[in-house]
Amino acid sequence: MRSWADYSPRNDLLDGRVILVTGATSGIGLAVSRDLVRHGATVVLHGRDAAALENVYNELKELGPEPVAAQLDLERAQGQEYQHLTDLIAERFERLDGLVHNAGILGDLSPIEHYDIGLWQKVMHVNVNAPFILTRCLLPLLHQSKDASILFTTSGVGNVGRAFWGAYCASKFATEGLAQVLADECENTSVRVNYINPGSTRTGMRRKAFPAEDPDTLPAPESITAAYLYLLGPDSAGMSGNRFEARSGKSTRKTVA
Ligand code: NDP
Repeated sequence: MRSWADYSPRNDLLDGRVILVTGATSGIGLAVSRDLVRHGATVVLHGRDAAALENVYNELKELGPEPVAAQLDLERAQGQEYQHLTDLIAERFERLDGLVHNAGILGDLSPIEHYDIGLWQKVMHVNVNAPFILTRCLLPLLHQSKDASILFTTSGVGNVGRAFWGAYCASKFATEGLAQVLADECENTSVRVNYINPGSTRTGMRRKAFPAEDPDTLPAPESITAAYLYLLGPDSAGMSGNRFEARSGKSTRKTVA
């Protein structure tokens, strides 16, 4: 594929697939969830805020298969709460066909020398440890799927360091490492693992990082969902270990020599 502009997903692309999206209550996660439902997926909507989650559930149930709401604060959740989420999916569906690790936080833009240590730990926990724990809990259910797709979210600073991006930058490097290790471990199984860089997108996180920027100059989250549909659906079956750019459709792959 040369670009996502060449990709036109059919309406029933994701029929019968059960896909969990973290951070589904705003920004990119919300736009992706809407499009997954529209294309036939049963989406497990993850969020930390009960009221926001209910609003999204009510909106999305009108668009396609009834979604499931799953509340979990990735900063504070303990083992029992991860187990509860795992049990919910196991009891309802007995498998999971897609897992989109989208939730994340920016932390502060600050030099390492002054970076708040508690905030550093929080960013690493929400952006790296929580996706690891969730993946570890859900892998048995993903292995029950004939074609499971795990998608991690990286960033423009996920493989190149940039001054002042501190914990966020380090967490995205770690995300890419986690995705690469898991892709290698899942080779020759029905589980594939890729990671995606959304690129600059008009969301709350982008606004926090670039407060002086005019948001109208940025693409909306709705304009990048094709990449997610492609990577979560059957058209990308067998693809694993790749880094994708949501905007251009370019992909790169790192392999062990
Ligand atoms: P948003 O801030 O709009 O969305 C982040 C999501 O993560 C929200 O739904 C938020 O929930 C959720 N979240 C944050 N903390 C927690 C927590 N403790 N527990 C549960 N959920 C939590 O940002 P984006 O949509 O822009 O970001 C989505 C992903 O894309 C992130 O991984 C980000 O790093 C990445 N990205 C974004 C880019 C951009 O330009 N926008 C560029 C490159 C990468 P709540 O609404 O309750 O806060």
